[in-house]
Amino acid sequence: MDRQQEFVLRTIEERDIRFVRLWFTDVLGTLKSVAIAPAELEGAFAEGIGFDGSVIEGFARVYESDMLAKPDPSTFQVLPWRGESNGTARMFCDITLPDGTPSMADPRHVLQRSLAKAADMGFTFYTHPEIEFFLLEQGWKPGKRPRPIDTSGYFDHTPHGSSADFRRAAITMLETMGISVEFSHHEAAPGQNEIDLRYADALTTADNIMTFRTVVKEVALEQGIYASFMPKPFAEHPGSGMHTHVSLFEGDTNAFHEPGAPYQLSKVGRQFIAGLLVHGAETAAVTNQWVNSYKRLWGGAEAPSYLTWGHNNRSALVRVPMYKPDKGQSTRVEIRSIDTACNPYLAFAVLLAAGLKGIEEGYELPPETEDDVWALTDAERRAMGIKPLPASLVEAIQTMEASELVAETLGEHTFDFFLRNKRAEWADYRNQVTAFELERYLPSL
Ligand code: GLU
Ligand code: MG
Ligand code: MG
Repeated sequence: MDRQQEFVLRTIEERDIRFVRLWFTDVLGTLKSVAIAPAELEGAFAEGIGFDGSVIEGFARVYESDMLAKPDPSTFQVLPWRGESNGTARMFCDITLPDGTPSMADPRHVLQRSLAKAADMGFTFYTHPEIEFFLLEQGWKPGKRPRPIDTSGYFDHTPHGSSADFRRAAITMLETMGISVEFSHHEAAPGQNEIDLRYADALTTADNIMTFRTVVKEVALEQGIYASFMPKPFAEHPGSGMHTHVSLFEGDTNAFHEPGAPYQLSKVGRQFIAGLLVHGAETAAVTNQWVNSYKRLWGGAEAPSYLTWGHNNRSALVRVPMYKPDKGQSTRVEIRSIDTACNPYLAFAVLLAAGLKGIEEGYELPPETEDDVWALTDAERRAMGIKPLPASLVEAIQTMEASELVAETLGEHTFDFFLRNKRAEWADYRNQVTAFELERYLPSL
């Protein structure tokens, strides 16, 4: 047993932990959990805990349905919302086949492979997500509009506001679990809030996002409200994105930083952005994986619809935030397409792969667009070589199907499962006859 594993066993004794939850994530980004008794833990570290993978989205073909969950001791945390006595703790797991080889369906493994590729090129990948979500009244019923808990807007200070109370409780719980929060505020839409996590390596960030979603939902329930990460619950209000600031480091040096260059952005930084743009359409199904995601991307309200980059341009897919002269190490780029309901492991894996491809192939960064690209006509956009993101899930699927980069990054198993699942989602959606159609067509056709 290694020192981290020993530390976990000791903490379990000292803090009277009675349940240890093993967490992992299915291909669609849903958190899965199995609780074991502390006595089972030594065995779990040594051999893993067996489970039937065939019932988990994306996990197995029938003939390889036996899987093992092996807890990663570096992710051990006590779950504060389960109380002090008879406590519960959790660890994220790596999923393997019975012979110990990593499961190709484990999203954590997909990201680890992408990170290993970056490491081969000498890079560590850091990410910092800005997570937006809605706080709604409980008890929504199909056919009814969801009801936000307040009517406030961007950066509003609401005295005794329930959003502010909520954020304080959620942030306190996140900090208790070792997840640092940098910034939080009310977002533009009623009931919409944002909490930004401090930057960390991408695997830690992805684990933190999974924990974040659980914490936010738990705290909401405690406060008698409901939290949703759905990308676009209201047609008339902005949706919830998960802008992610990314950077590559070589050792202790920020590889995106070059003093004196425009925006202090190095060649590596420029090529990385070029990779994000060139592969932005084919990676969209992963960063924006639901039918509803495309309602956000094409609904205006500071969500990007075109494959552009800029500095002060909030309609761009990639934005290079303001450079602070004394903060060379903080040079980074903000990816604005990705939404809060993605699978963060898979999304970070494909974004990293796209950026690395730009570096490997030496892609040229096109000129930035400082104009608001929505204000241009289609002809103007075409003349400037500006391409759109997919307009719907089906377009995103079709673009992804032809992508070698995404196939290679996800691996054949996850790539095939993901596409099959998404085609089925699109078919379900297409088969609906919506209120829009009845109201639009029935009176006149
Ligand atoms: N909610 C907007 C989106 O859908 C982003 C607003 C902002 O700039 O933070 O991406
Ligand atoms: Mg925001
Ligand atoms: Mg932002």
